[in-house]
Amino acid sequence: MTTSPTLQGQPLHALTIHQALAALRRGEISAVALTQTLLDRIAAVDGRVQAYLTVTGERALAQAAEADRRRAQGDDAPLLGIPLAVKDVLATEGVQTTCGSKILQGFIPPYSATAVARLEAAGMVLLGKTNTDEFAMGSSTENSGYVTTRNPWDLERVPGGSSGGSAAAVAAGEALAALGTDTGGSVRQPAALCGVVGLKPSYGRISRYGLVAYGSSFDQVGTITQDVRDAALLLGVMAGHDPLDSTSLPAPVPDYTASLDRDITGLRIGLPQEYFIDGMQPEVEQAVRAAVAHLEGLGAQVVPIRLPNTDKALPVYYLVATAEASANLARYDGVRFGYSVGDDNLFENIRRTRGQGFGPEVKRRIMLGAYALSAGYYDAYYLKAQQVRTLVKRDFEQAFEQVDVIACPTTPTTAFRIGEKTDNPMEMYLSDVFTISLNLAGICGISLPCGYDAAGLPIGLQLVGPHLGEETILAAAYAYEQSTDWHSRRIARRAALG
Ligand code: GLN
Repeated sequence: MTTSPTLQGQPLHALTIHQALAALRRGEISAVALTQTLLDRIAAVDGRVQAYLTVTGERALAQAAEADRRRAQGDDAPLLGIPLAVKDVLATEGVQTTCGSKILQGFIPPYSATAVARLEAAGMVLLGKTNTDEFAMGSSTENSGYVTTRNPWDLERVPGGSSGGSAAAVAAGEALAALGTDTGGSVRQPAALCGVVGLKPSYGRISRYGLVAYGSSFDQVGTITQDVRDAALLLGVMAGHDPLDSTSLPAPVPDYTASLDRDITGLRIGLPQEYFIDGMQPEVEQAVRAAVAHLEGLGAQVVPIRLPNTDKALPVYYLVATAEASANLARYDGVRFGYSVGDDNLFENIRRTRGQGFGPEVKRRIMLGAYALSAGYYDAYYLKAQQVRTLVKRDFEQAFEQVDVIACPTTPTTAFRIGEKTDNPMEMYLSDVFTISLNLAGICGISLPCGYDAAGLPIGLQLVGPHLGEETILAAAYAYEQSTDWHSRRIARRAALG
């Protein structure tokens, strides 16, 4: 057995971003050695976890060598030499980007998403592209057109989705952190199921340029990290206005890392009764209630609140998101991107390319969305859904007049078994019941580990903030994380993967 290099007893692949940066700055490790350790780790465990669709080994080592050169010349860019993974729905110049779909097989984008470009400008080393449900539609990665990613805590279980590849990669020590995207929970839900930290910023906080569109009024880039400090660090690098995305906000970007140490004494935490529902796993409810009591012990004040339109969030989401998806996915015509059956007849080419290229869930969503948008049904479904969306948003606005943060579970259950929900799309949709309403309202949320069930599977606590309230949820999450010890179990677990 080969032993991997260590730093103060920790294997290099288990370092957080901020730990790795400190070691790089002190000259204790090089970016090349760090990157090589991660690539070795991927080679050793990814056959079992299947988190990656593409590993960019050579490119990563070249970027790492460049980072070492820059550092030797005195450069100290915020992510210089840090190996990260990127969900395969974000465009990466010169690196295949498939969105987990056969229809984009072979598609090599001519430019990078702004989020990726900003990370690279800050010195990131790109390890590769991670698996996702096709076009980010799903909650388990079982809808990927390529492979099903496995949960590193139990390889027979799903890692969640749609950013399941990113969450599994971080949980398995195959990347120091990763980018995901969150349209209805796809960063927070897999983070919860894999025992890592998932941050979904407010709509407009990070540019969507180069993020392949699914539900454009919901989509947001997010981070999957091992701890809260790393989430603050990555957010700070990516956030801010981008002239290439008109929905990105011109609001100034605060120093998120500096706000972590904010005192949470007197912080008002709302506990919504609608988020503790029949049918949820009792251990999840217990762990989340215990976490809230812990925050109370740290000086926060717990306030019972109501979010009365919560039960409407799921149907509203599945009307609006599918409507937007049906329009966004019209562009895959077998001519411009990726896969094509190559039929000489244009209409046959479109029909057969789409018939073969899209998987069943994507087809289901296109049909649902086209139906909701069709003349005669538009008012009854799409328009009505938009009106109810406003009610969900208003619930949060009213709640945030009384509280600073809302606490609730991220998911109703811990990681489910592979295959358990694939025959019943409604069952699958229900795993997003606590995450989706934030996307309807455009507000921010973070999921972080708050315990384990009897089978040893991680449980996620979700802290929700108002629009552009990232500093507050990061500070609350950090206070919780620093005064609890769920983290050490993750490291023990990772060792068990070998
Ligand atoms: N699971 C939800 C869906 O299938 C959310 C996905 C996401 O956030 N990308 O649409």
